[in-house]
Amino acid sequence: MSFPIEFKKCPVCHSQETVCRLACDGESSIAKDAFVSLDKTFTPIQDVTRLLGPVVKGILCHFDVCSKCGMRYCTRAEITSVPVNVQHSSGNVIRNLQPPR
Ligand SMILES: [Zn+2]
Repeated sequence: MSFPIEFKKCPVCHSQETVCRLACDGESSIAKDAFVSLDKTFTPIQDVTRLLGPVVKGILCHFDVCSKCGMRYCTRAEITSVPVNVQHSSGNVIRNLQPPR
């Protein structure tokens, strides 16, 4: 198995319809084949204190809610890189992880 891993059906009722897909259906600003999800979590798989570049690699998990039974489940897991913001504040370097929207 390789990334991205997609879970196309609700694990409970096997419906493919989710709250977010339902809500985005017919939304002209979103491409028809674009992947949409209700919320996302990003888990870095690199040591953020030892980064050399401006990005950190991690696992992006998409979650959505089944529109039939209300089950919240992972719809997609992918490996991605997100920018690391480096801010200088009173001499300290602060790194903020900002997951993509
Ligand atoms: Zn369901």
